[in-house]
Amino acid sequence: MRPFPVILSAPSGAGKTTIARKLLERRADLGYSVSCTTRNPRPGELHERDYHFMSHAEFVADRDAGAFAEWAEVHGNLYGTLRREVERVLSTGRHCLMDIDVQGARQFAEAFPETVLIFILPPSGEVLLQRLNGRGSEDPERLLTRLKNARAEISEVARYHYVVVNDDLELAIERVGAVIDAESVRHDRVHSLDAQVGALIAQLEQEIHGIQRGDSHAGVHTG
Ligand code: ADP
Ligand code: 5GP
Repeated sequence: MRPFPVILSAPSGAGKTTIARKLLERRADLGYSVSCTTRNPRPGELHERDYHFMSHAEFVADRDAGAFAEWAEVHGNLYGTLRREVERVLSTGRHCLMDIDVQGARQFAEAFPETVLIFILPPSGEVLLQRLNGRGSEDPERLLTRLKNARAEISEVARYHYVVVNDDLELAIERVGAVIDAESVRHDRVHSLDAQVGALIAQLEQEIHGIQRGDSHAGVHTG
């Protein structure tokens, strides 16, 4: 099976980072593309694990050198996906999980049309605000920016292939996992499908000829 990119998008606070982390802990067939950002690390976030945290000048230099498969300004900071990160994950045979905003997802999917796009919705506006407050990562001004942006982001949902409501966390993780499982058996992702089908047809033809010749052993496998 050919590994593919999987993008999770959602308004800030809907739970995409939590879902992505749990999936990565549980599934060996997934790898994570660590994004670059100019925003400051939150308490508990680690450089290289959560983001490549960088200055504005470093980001612009990488962008101008063509290092990003996509990039966007989100909530006043720059974010980007490094081409080499995506290639690193896919080259190990794992699907490449990414947490990207709606503008970046659109750019990325144009460059990599095999990308699976999943939108995570919060169960309500009230719950989204509670989660953002509960995370304790934003001051009131930044919180308001994130809520305002949420309105615009949610209206892009129809561009996505799948929508998962993150009400019960376990159920949401299970649903995203089910999408990845189903996508991995799509006929265009199965490795050497033509060769497999060709071999099956050749075997069936042998069986059919055997029966037509009146071969009494046709279809009987004695080992
Ligand atoms: P995002 O990455 O979309 O900005 P996070 O994954 O950081 O969102 O989640 C925001 C907050 O909501 C975190 O404190 C997280 O623990 C919490 N959270 C995520 N999913 C759920 C859920 N299903 N039920 C309750 N709390 C949740
Ligand atoms: P946060 O600051 O909460 O980690 O992320 C803010 C927003 O930036 C989220 O919508 C997240 O999906 C988005 N984001 C994170 N990494 C990338 C990236 O590499 N590219 C783009 N375009 N958006 C990203």
